[in-house]
Amino acid sequence: MTSIARKIRLIMKLRKSGITDTAVLAAIERVPREVFIPPQFHDQAYEDTALPIGRGQTISQPLVVASMTQELRVNDRHKVLEIGTGSGYQAAILAKLCRRVYSIERHRPLLETAEKRLANLRIRNITCKVADGMRGWIEQAPFDRIIVTAAASEYPPQALLEQLSLGGILIIPMGRDKSSQFIYRITRQENDYKCERLMAVRFVPLLPNIARDEPDPVQDEQADPFVFSAPLAFQS
Ligand code: SAH
Repeated sequence: MTSIARKIRLIMKLRKSGITDTAVLAAIERVPREVFIPPQFHDQAYEDTALPIGRGQTISQPLVVASMTQELRVNDRHKVLEIGTGSGYQAAILAKLCRRVYSIERHRPLLETAEKRLANLRIRNITCKVADGMRGWIEQAPFDRIIVTAAASEYPPQALLEQLSLGGILIIPMGRDKSSQFIYRITRQENDYKCERLMAVRFVPLLPNIARDEPDPVQDEQADPFVFSAPLAFQS
């Protein structure tokens, strides 16, 4: 099957699974997912599955990306904050739908790779930084929309609630362990926050602080020589 046929099959599946927002479907169609995953998984780029991206992290399943994006109710006037840049794929999808994306990642090597991909695709309305996203991005706040792509254990980080504008929406997976995680939509109202539970999911955990910059043991074991930069880590 050609990659175009695989992509069409994926879009059909997303439609059947409840993705009705045509702007979201168009964004998924336009952003080449294979660019955001290591070459050894390119044949699976248009399967509806999560895939490893290094540092023990994953690019989310397309249906989860599409659902979270749809539930975020984003438009072209919005300023959006993403926590967990990872591969950069979700940021690229958001960039097609909103005015500007701010994205934070705690693993510097992941962020550097993501930024190169986004530059190659000439996507220019994304600003990224290495930081602990649980603290938000105070200099750029408030945000119309915030999306967290790693799971909090019990509560949304306070800083994210505070950096949401009035009427703003926060989409965040939460749950103590992988078997009981759900996506929540939290809407900032005049005096409080409305919280709705959406779909069941499995996400990597939202972790505090910036990650230490060390070689990636998992990638080192499996990688093709050209897909990772680990030899550099052994040079000193
Ligand atoms: N949106 C990504 C999904 C990446 S997986 C994509 O489209 O590929 C989740 C990411 O969240 C991981 O890269 C992980 O390192 C990052 N992460 C976890 N806790 C974080 C935190 N406190 N601040 C910033 N990034 C975090």
